[in-house]
Amino acid sequence: MGKQYETVIGLEVHVELATRTKIFCSCSTEFGKAPNTHTCPVCTGMPGALPVLNKQVVEYAMAIGLATNCEITKVCKFDRKNYFYPDNPQNYQISQLYLPIARNGYVEIETGGTKKKVRIHEMHMEEDAGKLIHDEWDDTSLVDYNRSGVPLVEIVSEPDMRSADEVIAYLEKLRMIIQYLGASDCKLQEGSMRADVNLSVREAGAEEFGTRTEMKNLNSFKAIARAIEGERERQIELLEEGKAVVQETRRWDDNKESSYAMRSKEDAQDYRYFPEPDLVPIVISGEWIEQIRARQPELQTEKMERYKKEFDIPEYDAKIITSSKHMADIFEAASAVCGKPKKVSNWLMVETLRLLKDRGMEPEEISFSPENLAKLVNLTESRAINSSVAKEVFEKIFAQDIDPEIYVEEHGLKTVNDEGALEEVIRKVIADNPKAAKDYHSGKEKALGALVGQTMKAMKGKADPGLVNRKLREMI
Ligand code: ADP
Ligand code: ZN
Ligand code: MG
Repeated sequence: MGKQYETVIGLEVHVELATRTKIFCSCSTEFGKAPNTHTCPVCTGMPGALPVLNKQVVEYAMAIGLATNCEITKVCKFDRKNYFYPDNPQNYQISQLYLPIARNGYVEIETGGTKKKVRIHEMHMEEDAGKLIHDEWDDTSLVDYNRSGVPLVEIVSEPDMRSADEVIAYLEKLRMIIQYLGASDCKLQEGSMRADVNLSVREAGAEEFGTRTEMKNLNSFKAIARAIEGERERQIELLEEGKAVVQETRRWDDNKESSYAMRSKEDAQDYRYFPEPDLVPIVISGEWIEQIRARQPELQTEKMERYKKEFDIPEYDAKIITSSKHMADIFEAASAVCGKPKKVSNWLMVETLRLLKDRGMEPEEISFSPENLAKLVNLTESRAINSSVAKEVFEKIFAQDIDPEIYVEEHGLKTVNDEGALEEVIRKVIADNPKAAKDYHSGKEKALGALVGQTMKAMKGKADPGLVNRKLREMI
């Protein structure tokens, strides 16, 4: 009792690449289409059909490899991984075992202010399988081959992570790099990014790793964090009872918050890997690598530095905005339209982050157009609307991407700039609230606030509070 345990975690991350067509045929990769409409003899494993490699897959894989500090393998090739499963029509998967396209990289993560490198053992290219749909009513299983042959890279880390926080930081970092490269949208919910968690525990201070299990079916960061906690507890309990952890693959059930064994861990030799005879080796020249390197877009760190210099955005804000490629794109587009980057950044940092949090959304799910945010900035800067109206209008933009100019017009939300009308209202407010006026004159500053409130109310919120304040002081 009272022993301390350390958790050791390594990840295998599958990412679907954003190519238009599949890895070995010209079928579309589009998600969510009618079952079996994006198929052909190649991706349904018909005898005699031959694969032809999609060059874009190699280029995306190289781009990811370079951005994660890997060495690119100059002569790499595909291997067959043989196994039977109904979602795998060829009875083998074309993958890479012996010479994966990239090796020996790392990404840097930061948790609780501490930086750390997570090493990448290798990254290989392979094809995705089809999808089985189990129909419990009919007691049948159906198969959809639209996903069969969609290109994947699998990124295998070293067992360098020690907590769920580090795992999430690693996944967020990978996702950010890949999204910046435009190589995948990396949506965990839709399965375009999938992480298998290999986890073992060992007594604190021990040299040797413990026996690990591999967990599958994790489709959100929250599920991953819960699965890590659950599996850590399960393994510690076994060890405390003097039992052994069995090396196996387990399936996490996030509703039950527990996992169950799927199969005992298979070895490479179980798959009878052999070199894929239908594809030639890929020779990657230094020149090709340099071409890809030269084409790499601006990644987060560079973007952050540029925002600080070019737009005078504080470090913290620049970091948050660039942590999502999507948010950074909105920032740049909106700033280009209105020319007021600091104001745009404020709307993102305050109201956008607040609404995302309230609604449990990710920055990737922001759906308003930069043009509408830019228009809102212009409306507030020209004092056409005041700040409380602006907040109200922004909520509409956030939820429905409305055009703020039209919305403000239609709902009569424009600030009334007619000083005569304002003065009239103020005169009436002062007359109706003699006590407040008297209190103000006897030095009670606070009394003015009540009068400002009354005036704003009488103006239906459409006055400029600064102007109301000034006028009141003049007229009282
Ligand atoms: P296999 O050859 O069985 O696929 P690998 O050695 O390639 O196994 O490792 C697969 C994944 O498991 C890698 O991400 C690796 O970091 C991780 N891993 C390996 N050993 C351990 C361990 N003892 N504890 C946790 N993770 C591990
Ligand atoms: Zn096809
Ligand atoms: Mg392996």
